[in-house]
This record gives sequence, structure tokens and C-alpha cells, in this order.
Amino acid sequence: MSLETEAYVCKAKGEPLKLEKIVLPPLEANEVECDMVCCGLCHTDCHMCTNDWGISDFPMVPGHEGVGIVRAVGSAVSTHAVGDRVGIAWMRDSCQACEACLCGRENICQPGYQGTFLSKSAGVWGKKPYNLTGGCFSKVMRVAARFAFKIPEGVPDDVACPLLCGGGTVYEPLCDYCEPGTQLGVAGIGGLGTAAIKLAKLRGVTPTAISSSPHKKQAALAAGAKDFVCFDDDLAAWAGKFDVIIDTSPANTQPAATYLNLLKFGGTYCRVGIPAAGEGFKYDWIPLIFTQRKVVGSIVTGSKCMHSMFNLVKDNLDFLQADNPDLQNIEKVPFSQANAAMKNLVERKNKGYRYVLVW
Ligand code: NAP
Ligand code: ZN
Repeated sequence: MSLETEAYVCKAKGEPLKLEKIVLPPLEANEVECDMVCCGLCHTDCHMCTNDWGISDFPMVPGHEGVGIVRAVGSAVSTHAVGDRVGIAWMRDSCQACEACLCGRENICQPGYQGTFLSKSAGVWGKKPYNLTGGCFSKVMRVAARFAFKIPEGVPDDVACPLLCGGGTVYEPLCDYCEPGTQLGVAGIGGLGTAAIKLAKLRGVTPTAISSSPHKKQAALAAGAKDFVCFDDDLAAWAGKFDVIIDTSPANTQPAATYLNLLKFGGTYCRVGIPAAGEGFKYDWIPLIFTQRKVVGSIVTGSKCMHSMFNLVKDNLDFLQADNPDLQNIEKVPFSQANAAMKNLVERKNKGYRYVLVW
């Protein structure tokens, strides 16, 4: 049976969100139904509402860092029970048969995963029309049980939210490209960047923050960075210093060469921040080839890294919730302030490092 609920809907490109009634499709055998409690606001939700990437379909319910409580399970679900606390992220399903899915890297599911609120404009990642009935800015959600990640006991809802997309997205390249001793630079000290600094520290990698905002120095150091580089500084002093840079910038505020020059020969520039369509990657072949620097992209994370990240987090809650006045914290706001929160994030006026919207 379909189900009526309420959700914050973006009706057309650039329109503010409005609380409206929506109708969810019938619960499938492999799905769980959840009462949603809260949701992180990722910069991706802003890009999607303004269709920066050309992959949005409207009307759309965004949101992909949701925490909720299971209130019903489909007939084929044996892994989840009513009352379980779960997190829902960027993916809502995948083929579960390809090599990537079988080893928990559903984010590179070969036929394309199904995005939580993606539809046809997203190509292989939006095979089914979930634009209106998919996102986590909804009071009730129905999603494949495999993509409703159980949140370990003790991890508070508002700590879990920013990890579900932002944390996982940076945790994966930390696992793929870093080990203790790696000289890591984290560029863009917002939601993803702050999570990257904290999670790197927990994995024994002490990063350097790379930022366009001098006022973020204290917060970056408090989060665990050992150093702070600002684009206003003399970057020549930092040339060739890093093994890996994880760049979370949502726009090409700096040319790619600025970051690549900070890498050692053979180093890796990992881009996770996603600029608008058309803001291309520009670099020359000669320096790329002669220096053997590598340029890679990384998209969210699969179930394997998600579980490993939450295990690490549950054992280090004190650090993640550190009562440090210098630390930029999560800012909890009611869902009714979602539009103001989005505007602040885009205009870079947010005070905390992640908004968590609460019903
Ligand atoms: P955020 O909280 O807004 O942080 C972005 C940070 O980037 C800012 O705090 C700022 O840090 C820096 N920045 C540089 N140029 C900027 C600009 N023109 N506008 C705003 N910030 C700018 O965003 P987020 O939620 O961390 O997301 C960052 C990017 O990652 C977005 O593009 C998002 O869509 C993308 N994303 C990608 C994935 C993936 O799977 N690859 C997953 C989630 C998000 P400084 O002040 O320190 O320079
Ligand atoms: Zn996100």
C-alpha cells in the first residue's frame, strides 16, 4: 500500500523548500519503513536544489544524511527489526550482484546504484523515479534494508548524521590512499573537511588543513590538524610537501595546479568536492606525466567502509564530541529553518561545520 506523509519539497530549480504532503510507493519486500528523526544538510543538497550538476529532477525531496527508527519491515527482511535506529545516506539500492557490490563497494556498483533521491536526469544512478519520494527531508522513508545502516548504540543522532554522507565520503579515500605517516592535506574546511580531519586523526594520520578562510585556523587545529595553510600564505613554502590531498571544495576557487604543486612527485590529488557542471578540470599533460602525480575522484562510500567508520567512531566518541570551545560544532536547527540553513551554507555564513535539521 502507498503511504501519505509530509516532506520538504523543492518544486523547481532554485525554489525554496516547502512542507507538503507526498505519497510513498508501496513497501517492497526488501525494504524497511522508518520514522525520520533528523538529517544533516550536505552541500550536495544545495547543489541539487539549484541543479548545479544538471542531474536533478523536480519536484524533489532532498536529504541524504537521515537518521530514523524502523517502524515496519518488508516480508523478506530478516536483518532489521522494528525499533532499530538506522542511518540513510546517498544510495537507496544497488544491484548486489556485481564485483563491487559483493565486496561492499556499492558506491561503484557497475550498473550504477540507485541514488536516494535521484531520477532519470542522473542516468544510471537514477533508474527509478525517486526525486519526489526518495529524500531524507521526509517524515517517513521507505528504503532497501541493506542501505538502512544500523547506528551503533551510544552514537548520538547528531554525531551520526554528518558521518552518513560527509564522513563516509572522506573516510573512503583515507582508507584507500592514507596510512599512518602519510602527509595528508585536507582542503576546504566545511562539513566534509572537518570530518576528514577528525577521522584522519582517529586513523593515525595527522593532516594539515588547507583553507581559503584564515579565521578557521583555531577550529581546524582543535579538530586535529597539525598545521594550517591558507591560500593567502606563501604557498611556495608548502610545494611538494603532501603525499595526498583530499579536496572538498564545492567550486573551482583555486586552479587545480595550486593543489597539484603542493603534492610530492607521485602524490595523489583526490577530489571529492563537486563543482557545477562545466567547471572543468584543467591541467597540462607534461607536469602530470613528469611528476607522476595522480588525480582521482571518489564518490560517497559503500557498506564496508560505512560499517568500519561507525565502529571507529563508537570507540572514540569522547574525541568526536570533545568539549572544546575552539571546535566548530554541529548546529541543530528545526526543519522549519531548512531554507535559512541552506542559504547560510551557500553564502558561507554557517557557524558550525554541519547543520543537522530536526523534525
Ligand atoms: P561545506 O560544508 O559548504 O564546505 C565546503 C568548504 O569548501 C567551505 O567551508 C570552504 O572551506 C571551501 N570552499 C571553497 N570554495 C568554496 C565556495 N565557492 N563555496 C563554498 N565553500 C567553498 O560543503 P560540504 O558539505 O563539505 O561539501 C563539499 C563538497 O563536497 C560539495 O561540492 C558537495 O556536493 C561535495 N560532496 C561530494 C561527495 C562525494 O561523494 N564526492 C559527498 C558529499 C559532498 P574554506 O573556508 O576552508 O576554504
Ligand atoms: Zn552529501
